[in-house]
Amino acid sequence: MSSRFKGKKVLIMGAQRTGLSLAKFLHEQGAKIIVSDLKSREQLGSQGDAFEEFDVQWELGSNSPKSLTAVDLVVLSPGVNPMDKSFEPAKQKGIPFTGELELASTLITQPIIAVTGTNGKSTATRLAYEFMVASELPSWIGGNYGAPLIEYVGSKPTAAALAVEVSSFQLETVDTFRPQQIILLNLAEDHLDRYRSLGDYFHAKKRVFRNASPETTAILNADDPNVIEMARDPQVLKCKVKYFTRRIGLEEQIKRIGGAVYSNKEIRVYIDGQKEVYSTAKMKMKGRHNVENIMAAIVAVRPYGAKPEAIQNVIDSFPGLEHRLEFVRKKGGVEFYNDSKSTNVHSLMRALEAFDEPVILIAGGKDKGMDFTPLVEPVQKKVKNLILVGEAKERLNRSIGDFSETFIIGTFEESILLAYQKSRSGDVVLLSPGCSSYDLFKNYEERGNYFKELVQKL
Ligand code: ADP
Repeated sequence: MSSRFKGKKVLIMGAQRTGLSLAKFLHEQGAKIIVSDLKSREQLGSQGDAFEEFDVQWELGSNSPKSLTAVDLVVLSPGVNPMDKSFEPAKQKGIPFTGELELASTLITQPIIAVTGTNGKSTATRLAYEFMVASELPSWIGGNYGAPLIEYVGSKPTAAALAVEVSSFQLETVDTFRPQQIILLNLAEDHLDRYRSLGDYFHAKKRVFRNASPETTAILNADDPNVIEMARDPQVLKCKVKYFTRRIGLEEQIKRIGGAVYSNKEIRVYIDGQKEVYSTAKMKMKGRHNVENIMAAIVAVRPYGAKPEAIQNVIDSFPGLEHRLEFVRKKGGVEFYNDSKSTNVHSLMRALEAFDEPVILIAGGKDKGMDFTPLVEPVQKKVKNLILVGEAKERLNRSIGDFSETFIIGTFEESILLAYQKSRSGDVVLLSPGCSSYDLFKNYEERGNYFKELVQKL
C-alpha cells in the first residue's frame, strides 16, 4: 500500500461519516490530520468523539480554518462545496484540493461500476451488488451509499467488481476517477439549491465520463431525453455505449450494440450478440423505474461472470430499499407506502405511475424551487386526494391543487390521519413528498420512520 501520506499534513473538511473514514485511513497511513467542520465540537457530540482515536487536531466553526493555507492536502467530504469562496486563498497558494471519491479511486485497481443519475442510484447500486453476491462473486458496495469508497481501500480489496454510487456533489471533485462501467439512470431537475442552473447540475454529472476511453462501458437510459442529449457529447462517445429501454422499436439496435429491452414482463439482455431472457412476473419491487434499475444493473454485472439464475432469484426476491416505495401495511383494504426518499418531482411522478389504484398522496417538504407543473397530468389521472404539508405546500397547491381534491395541512401527523379518513378499501395511501425533508425532519430516514410509526398506530 502506498504511503504517500506519511508525515503529510492533511486537512479533512467535514466531520461526518466520510470525514471519519478518511481520518481512519489517513491516520493508518501516517498522516497528520486536521479536521474542520462548520459545527462546534459540542455540536458534533459523539460523532466528534469517534475521531479522537485518530489523533486529530480540530479547527471548527467555519469553512476557512487557519491551516487551510498551511497543509499539504485538503480532502473534501461530499457535502462541502469545492467552489466555496473561502478556499480561494489556499487554491491561489497552490494547495492541492481533492474529494474523497477521487482520493480513494486512485488507490483502487479493481473494476468499478459507477452508478449515477438523479434517481435510482442507491437501488441500482444495491441491485448490482446483490447480483454479484448471489453469483458468489466477491464484491463491495459503497460510495454515496453506505460506506465511503476509502473504506474499501482500508479493507482487504479483493472484489471482482465494486458497485459504487456516485452523486453529482462527489463528481465535482473527481479528476482521474475512471470507472470501468458507468450507469446513467436518468437526468431530471434537482439540487437547484446547490447549483445555479440545471445545466450546471448536468455538467457535474457529466464529469463521471471525464476519463472515458474505448475500454469504458456507458450504460444509458434510452428513454430519458436528457440522457440521450448527454449521450451525444464527445466525452460520452469515447465509451462503448449500451442502452436499456422499454421501447421495443430499439431492440434491433440493441441486439447489435448490447443492452437490455423490456416488454410484457420480460427483460431481454443482449451481450456480445447473445440473448438472455429474465422474467419480471414475480418481481417484488413496484414500478417501471425499478425495471430500469434492474436492466441497468444486469448489463453492468454480466461481464464479471454474474450468473443469470442468480440474477433471476434476486429479481424475484429483492424487496427494494427502505423508504423507496416501501410497503408499510394494509388496513381496511387500504395499502400504505413509504416513499420518503422521493425528494424531487421526477421520483414523485415515477411513484404515481407505479399504482393502478386510486392514490391518496401526501406530498410537500422543503421548497427547493422546483417546477411542479409536470405533476399536473399524473395527479389528475391518479390522485384521488392530495394532502400537502411542509414549506412547499402553498406553491404545490398553486401548481397542482386544482387537479384533485386538495387539503393543505398544518402538521405531518394530521396529514396521515386525514389520508386514512379519506381512504376506502382498494385505495393506496402514498407518502412521496417530491421535496427534501429538512423543513420538518433531520433527513428522509427520520421522515419515513415517523410516517411508518404513525401508520402502524392507525
Ligand atoms: P438515489 O440514490 O438516486 O436518491 P434511490 O434508489 O434512493 O435513488 O431512490 C430515490 C427515489 O427515486 C425513491 O423515491 C425511488 O422510489 C425513486 N426511484 C428509484 N429508482 C428510480 C428510477 N430509476 N427513476 C426514477 N425514480 C426512481
